[in-house]
Amino acid sequence: MSQGLCTSCGYVGETESITKGSTDTEIILWFCFLIPGLIYSIWRFRSRHEICPICDQATIISADSPEAQKIIRENRAKQVAAIPEFRPPSKAAIGAGRVVGRFVGRLLK
Ligand SMILES: [Zn+2]
Repeated sequence: MSQGLCTSCGYVGETESITKGSTDTEIILWFCFLIPGLIYSIWRFRSRHEICPICDQATIISADSPEAQKIIRENRAKQVAAIPEFRPPSKAAIGAGRVVGRFVGRLLK
């Protein structure tokens, strides 16, 4: 299991691994005909892909990729904007923020 990002719905987290075909068919092919069994196994192995547990789309990219990081940041910004109780900071808070900002700025010089 790996961390992935779904580009369809914005889901971030564990992804599900899906393999096409069935294990039963694979076993039968291996027992009856060795070569088709081998081909079938290779086909199944190559068909393995990650899917989104939310929307079942195979639009999963690694959560570590720069592309995914960009999408995650955009989604977080949207979530903050969507909170109805969100109020802009008061003047006192902005003032305190400026003081802290100046203080940190001096420390870093
Ligand atoms: Zn999804």
